[in-house]
Amino acid sequence: MTDSFDVIVIGGGPAGYPAAIRAGQNKLTVACIDEWKNRDGSTAFGGTCLNAGCIPSKALLESSELYHRALHEFAAHGVTLSGVGFDVAAMQKRKAGIVRGSTQGILQLFKAAGVTPLTGHGKLLAGRKVEFTGHDGAKRTLQAKHVVLASGSEPMPLRGVAFDGERIVDSWGALEFAEVPKRLCVIGAGVIGLELGSVWRRLGAETVVLEALDALLPMADGAVAKEAARHFKKLGLDVRLGAKVTGAEVRPDGVHVGYSDARGAQTLVVDRLVVAIGRRPFTKDLLGEGTGVKLDERGFIQVDDHCRTGAEGIWAVGDCVRGPMLAHKGKEEGVAVADMIAGQYGHVNYRTIPSVIYTAPEIAWVGHTEEQAKAAGRSIKTGSFPFAASGRARAMEAGAGFCKIVADAGSDEILGVHVIGPMAGELIAEAVLAMEYAASSEDLQRTIHAHPTLSEALHEAALAADKRAIDIPNR
Ligand code: FAD
Ligand code: NAD
Repeated sequence: MTDSFDVIVIGGGPAGYPAAIRAGQNKLTVACIDEWKNRDGSTAFGGTCLNAGCIPSKALLESSELYHRALHEFAAHGVTLSGVGFDVAAMQKRKAGIVRGSTQGILQLFKAAGVTPLTGHGKLLAGRKVEFTGHDGAKRTLQAKHVVLASGSEPMPLRGVAFDGERIVDSWGALEFAEVPKRLCVIGAGVIGLELGSVWRRLGAETVVLEALDALLPMADGAVAKEAARHFKKLGLDVRLGAKVTGAEVRPDGVHVGYSDARGAQTLVVDRLVVAIGRRPFTKDLLGEGTGVKLDERGFIQVDDHCRTGAEGIWAVGDCVRGPMLAHKGKEEGVAVADMIAGQYGHVNYRTIPSVIYTAPEIAWVGHTEEQAKAAGRSIKTGSFPFAASGRARAMEAGAGFCKIVADAGSDEILGVHVIGPMAGELIAEAVLAMEYAASSEDLQRTIHAHPTLSEALHEAALAADKRAIDIPNR
């Protein structure tokens, strides 16, 4: 086998594997190195996203939501059920099958695009050489014209709270519970805390989420965060804000979690503790001597706006570089870099990266929140439309939440769109496309939306920005 490639990608997650596929599509010779090992020792491409993140979490969110809806919503449809139950082992088996299918699919995609998969560790050396160490320990030195670093991220540990893989776990551990914990605590009310907290709460766990900040979802639009808090409370998620965790200890009666809040020192005893306080870039043993690649003070690989590290022919993409830690952000960077390497145009519009939180109701946004736009000194107008006034949402028994649009008061350009409600993650795609083309709220107003659909709520929110909504009174 050749040891020389046009492109070597280190890391086969959602940033690295698309970079390798696009490089192959661009007729470059390419290898993708990945060291991921599952708990059973098997190797798999797909990184955190496919193996222990986006995909398994969404599988369990879907299963647990179906159970929850069967219990709490079907009766409103006139559907009566008796003996509704669930089987965690069956849910986990379904999840594992989805993960396996997705990760094995990458190998087929590699084959079709002519990518050489290499399972093992990759280390960048000076002169665009890569030391590849197979899982059997055998080493080879490979040579590339370009190297793309896509080594991803890992869970942030919390001082005084040691993972034991059993009672105190990270998000991966929380996706693998074999049974529903009676008492669960999640540290961090971020995206993972809210999604995984929802999964186990829906299945019956008494769930406390401890959040250090005094505000829930500070990155979301204020109106969305307020609406979300109401629904989390209704679900029974006990979110405690301003809670500073001081330590955790495993004792025979459970995990004792110490924290302090406005009322002073507190202790909580739970069966399982999940630490989800953010992730940090993973670059362990990635960079040899003299590569010229620099890390910033938080450990991210330093890159410019085009993912160039500053070292000739060395690029970096995904969670290991600045920007939101999202699979679709990494994918766009990977593809753009592979196009630039091939001498083509590549670009990532960092202003239109959508965020989605897969809770119920779902939460999604793109662009500026109302608060951010005001803080930036923009003169704005906003329009909101509640799903309670959407015929389709009502027919779905999903009338909670709203669509909100933030537009420039002068130019009418859409600055941000915020959705909390059914299929928010799907609805936001229209807003992303609109913003990608610098659409005005009038452009959305003049776009025909099929009736009855959830997307009409976005249409009406755009109309409401000019007090021209049809299906709600304009204020
Ligand atoms: P990773 O997915 O971390 O992949 C990096 C890969 O590189 C890994 O396989 C690693 O083993 C390998 N690697 C690292 N160093 C080396 C080396 N030196 N040699 C060889 N291989 C190496 N994002 C979303 O957009 N939507 C979601 O719904 C979502 N849900 C999530 C749920 C959870 C529970 C978690 C934890 C994360 C979630 N994320 C989600 C975030 C998403 O998973 C990450 O943003 C994404 O995986 C980052 O992709 P990446 O390719 O940069 O890194
Ligand atoms: P996060 O940054 O979303 O949230 C971490 C939360 O923990 C924050 O609210 C923070 O204030 C809090 N926190 C930090 N230190 C704390 C402490 N000592 N005690 C209590 N609270 C503390 O991080 P996450 O939820 O761990 O997720 C990691 C990454 O994975 C995120 O960047 C996210 O974008 C990504 N992710 C995305 C999705 C999605 O797109 N749906 C889902 C899951 C994860």
